[in-house]
Amino acid sequence: MPESLVVIPEPELPQFRRRLLAWFTRSKRNLDWRQTRDPYRIWLSEIMLQQTRVAAVVPYYRRFVARFPTVRRLAGARLDTVLQHWAGLGYYSRARNLHRAAKQIAARRDAEFPRSLADALALPGVGQYTGAAVLSIAYGEPLAVLDGNVARVLARLGAVRGEPRQPRRWRRLATAADSLLARGAPGDWNQAMMELGATVCTPRAPRCGECPVERWCRARALGIAGDLPGARRRARTVRITLAAAVLLDPQRRTLLVRHQNGDGTLFSRLWQFPAVAAGRDAGHTLTRHLESIGVPSAHLEALAAARHTVTFREIRLLPFLVRVARLPAIAGARKPPLVELGRLPVSSATRKIAAAALHAL
Ligand code: SF4
Repeated sequence: MPESLVVIPEPELPQFRRRLLAWFTRSKRNLDWRQTRDPYRIWLSEIMLQQTRVAAVVPYYRRFVARFPTVRRLAGARLDTVLQHWAGLGYYSRARNLHRAAKQIAARRDAEFPRSLADALALPGVGQYTGAAVLSIAYGEPLAVLDGNVARVLARLGAVRGEPRQPRRWRRLATAADSLLARGAPGDWNQAMMELGATVCTPRAPRCGECPVERWCRARALGIAGDLPGARRRARTVRITLAAAVLLDPQRRTLLVRHQNGDGTLFSRLWQFPAVAAGRDAGHTLTRHLESIGVPSAHLEALAAARHTVTFREIRLLPFLVRVARLPAIAGARKPPLVELGRLPVSSATRKIAAAALHAL
């Protein structure tokens, strides 16, 4: 690999930029966050879009901005309320960081997302990519973004082989991204590069025949577009079995706790049914766990099992209905009616368990 990566020869850059920007103007998807220059909303969309598909984000984004239309409203909200509006979108640390960062922004004199990259990077949950995206789109700062989509486009344009996230290669791609940036329209440029990667230069079977910059693409010329970039080494999937108890008292109230399964990162800070990681004899393990929280001699009624995936963890959920005369007293626990569970910030795994319990009743 050459020391500096020249993706497009200098004399051809103006034409390359014109073609990509014209394509973006013609072909861009009509997304809510493209109708605004409000840095708060652009920042929110960028956070929501991390590791999450556009189609999944749209309804969450709409509900979120309806409930928290400004950064001040977000900063003034309770974390539980914020998590409730995030519930089901996953990766909850994003919501917690967003909330913390909103408080920091609201405390600033202008209560605006910072205009300098250094200040933006000091906010919780804002890294180089998010900082550059918000500053370029909202404020027109000449900062190029590099994410998975842009890296793939660049790797193919320059026929760069190998895993793009390899640190040295990533730095070269970042330099290449910077050299291509249309400094007169950095926000549109960044979005155009990402849009090309998301809709045309896709990971599998890129649609080169529709590509506005096909003529400059070395991978296309070499007939290796579909082989680039190199496959990312995937984290090994970890399989976990989680036995969960839906306790139910005569008033049909249930018990929700936090951090009960010994692995707080699974559903961190979200309300969940008492649960425990289990081996072969899940019922026995759960019975012991229930004894430890003040539910002796529990009679377990098995509910429909479900699967749930969190990043590289594949969780097999084994829920049980446990009828009790009285719910145990646990400091900080909640005892909502089972049917009203959706009003609390709960993960989609907890929703699946609740649905199985309601179905059985
Ligand atoms: Fe991607 Fe094909 Fe366009 Fe090259 S020609 S940038 S591989 S879509």
